[in-house]
Amino acid sequence: MFDQYQRKIEYVRISLTDRCNLRCRYCMPEEGIKKMRHEDILTFDEILRIVRALAVLGVRKVRLTGGEPLVRRNIVELVREIHAVEGIEQIALTTNGVLLDEMAADLVAAGLTGINISLDTLKAATFADITRRPVFARVEAGIEAVHKAGLTDVKFNCVPMQGINEAELPALVEHFTRLRPWKFRFIELMPIGCAYEAGLKGIPMAEVRSRLEQAFGHLRPVQPSKGVYGPAAYYQAEGFRGQIGFIDAMEHKFCASCNRVRLTAEGFLKLCLNAKTGLDLRTLLRSGISDENLRMALQQAIYHKPEEHFFQSSAYKEKDSRAMYQVGG
Ligand code: SAM
Ligand code: SF4
Repeated sequence: MFDQYQRKIEYVRISLTDRCNLRCRYCMPEEGIKKMRHEDILTFDEILRIVRALAVLGVRKVRLTGGEPLVRRNIVELVREIHAVEGIEQIALTTNGVLLDEMAADLVAAGLTGINISLDTLKAATFADITRRPVFARVEAGIEAVHKAGLTDVKFNCVPMQGINEAELPALVEHFTRLRPWKFRFIELMPIGCAYEAGLKGIPMAEVRSRLEQAFGHLRPVQPSKGVYGPAAYYQAEGFRGQIGFIDAMEHKFCASCNRVRLTAEGFLKLCLNAKTGLDLRTLLRSGISDENLRMALQQAIYHKPEEHFFQSSAYKEKDSRAMYQVGG
């Protein structure tokens, strides 16, 4: 399925819940968030109907995110059912890793093909400071469980922040990519959620890269495999098995090759990370829409996916005010 700018849309990111077992300072307020009513959240059957319709239209990859997707009950069952949908080739998960120790093996057995773990530090005290929860050891155990489960598509997402984790950026890369073929990605702090209210300051990607080059020498650009699109530019340090990724969200660099749409937990199809435009699928599903009309509605909405996002636009009119825990990153 192509949009009006000839971009091939083959990837959907599904937020399963707004809730989370952490309170990262750039993402959620300390007191948590106003809970959505149970009936306002899409059921697994509703999610599966949407995934089936999207698969017929050409979507090949599903990512489950949140909030924290692993706090949603029976997620292993959902992975199993998505795995059975004809056309879906990849099922990935974005998680904070706290519950992976107990769930990684079951998720992989159910058909999970990739995992992104968000981790900004290797120090338990800094972890507790950033996430407001002292559970670093559980994330460490979760990462080992992923390794044991035999998953090879493993990525880490790290938000570099001035005065918080900036001194350990090389250590993080060293720890996760020297001996294992994993990808360690840096994401620029975005002006959404609580980032600026919390007084946090990000570090530009060019600066992160230059600090890593001071530590590891020249970073060699890695050409993306054919058919792989994404916002990250990957590099490799001499002698390392894994790769380093940079996601420069404040630039529009990846909008021209954007291949994705997002589904919020309440069933709103978001066409761009930071724009309001989209489709209220929950209302359509609950008013008894047929499969054929659902496909047509999806196709029409996706055709009108915005050309680029608005982080740096002065005409902020179409900007969406949702935080990351609501759209899943
Ligand atoms: N709870 C899961 C996790 O943390 O991986 C999935 C959802 S979380 C919203 C997805 C990603 O968004 C995380 O990697 C997190 O670091 C990132 N994120 C949240 N708020 C952000 C912000 N203001 N700027 C940049 N990244 C942010
Ligand atoms: Fe939770 Fe992820 Fe947001 Fe942290 S970034 S509060 S783990 S949703």
